[in-house]
Formats: sequence, structure tokens, C-alpha cells
Amino acid sequence: MKILTLAQRGLVISSALWTITSAPGGLQARNVDPHLPGVERPQLEVRIFRLPSVPEGIVKLAAAEAARQLQGLLVTFDWLDCSTPVQAPACQAPLSLKVITIRILPHALPNATEAGLGMTMWSDTGTSAALFYDRAMALRRPNVPLQRLLGLAMAHEIVHVLLSGDHTDEGLMAARWSTEYLATGHSGYSGLSRAMEAAVESEARRRVSQAAFTRN
Ligand SMILES: [Zn+2]
Repeated sequence: MKILTLAQRGLVISSALWTITSAPGGLQARNVDPHLPGVERPQLEVRIFRLPSVPEGIVKLAAAEAARQLQGLLVTFDWLDCSTPVQAPACQAPLSLKVITIRILPHALPNATEAGLGMTMWSDTGTSAALFYDRAMALRRPNVPLQRLLGLAMAHEIVHVLLSGDHTDEGLMAARWSTEYLATGHSGYSGLSRAMEAAVESEARRRVSQAAFTRN
């Protein structure tokens, strides 16, 4: 398997499974909660489906941006590109509550909000989000590249999946991002209160234990 390492981001990319960690210690350390040593973080899977016209490289960079945005959460996300010609076996595993599916669609769905870059859909078998490539393309600027827009939208929808429909006044979960926010690239600042972060983490744990219970 060809492994490409982007050391500056602490990002390891394989052909289909992207393991993204900001911890310099690497893979063994990534699941351990630094605040509660010995306690495993809940581990969720993000399966990304893209159009052939959406470059794989852009989606990898968008996933890295999303991981950067979510790094303050005590949740581990495994990012899978499920559109490569040879899919990772995990892409074919049955859906469960610990799987979040993200589809990058060519056009906004008719029931999307007027300016939204994406939307979230819930069901009993899992949760999925759609991102709208046409809207991201229309919003991009020299200082706001496509991968940032898609990464922010990805992270925003993932939090919606875990926290229902809450928005905040500013930050990642704002209903509308300011031009300044888009351009400055806040890192790891979700704009969520600690209580909201705890709710996201608790929902992630619930999903992981429910998925294990369903499998057994
Ligand atoms: Zn939203």
C-alpha cells in the first residue's frame, strides 16, 4: 500500500483510509483521552463519497481541514474516501450509528436553505450529510480555497449530526460565516461552549456503544 506522509499536518494518507491526527506521538496515542488517561475516546467513521469530477486531492485536503476544525473534541474520527476505484473494506461494512456518511453532490438539493453549503439527514441506520459542490465553487476566493470551504462545511455538518440543529453566534457552528472567519482559518476553534462539546462527545460515545450492542 502506498503511504504518503504530509508531516506538516501530522496527516497520514493511505489509498483509501486517511488517518488524521494532530498528536505528534502518532497512531498509538491518538485514541487516549489526554484529560482522562487510559480512557478511550469514542471513534467514529466518516465515509466520504464524491463525484469523479471532484478531485481526490481536494477532498483529502478538505478532510484534513475538517479534522483540524474538530481537533478540540475528545472524539476520534477515521476518514475514508469511499470513491476510490478500490474501496477500503470498511466502506463496504454495514452502516451503523458510528458511521457518518458524507456525499459531495454536484448541485444543492431543492430543500436546502438558500445559502447553505450542506445539509444533514438522520435515519435509524445512520446519519448522512450532503455537501453542495456548486455552492462551494461559487464561494471560493484566492484567500478562501475550495478545500477550506468544503472542510468547514464537512466539520459543520458532522457537528450537526451529533448535536442536532444547534447554531452558535460565531465560529464553526455559526449559521453564516463572516468573510473574515472564512479567510483567517481559525484552527480548532469550534465556537462551541464546553457544555456543547461535552454533548457532542457524549453522543459520540452513545453511538459507539449502541453500534457495538447492535453488532453483538
Ligand atoms: Zn448549520
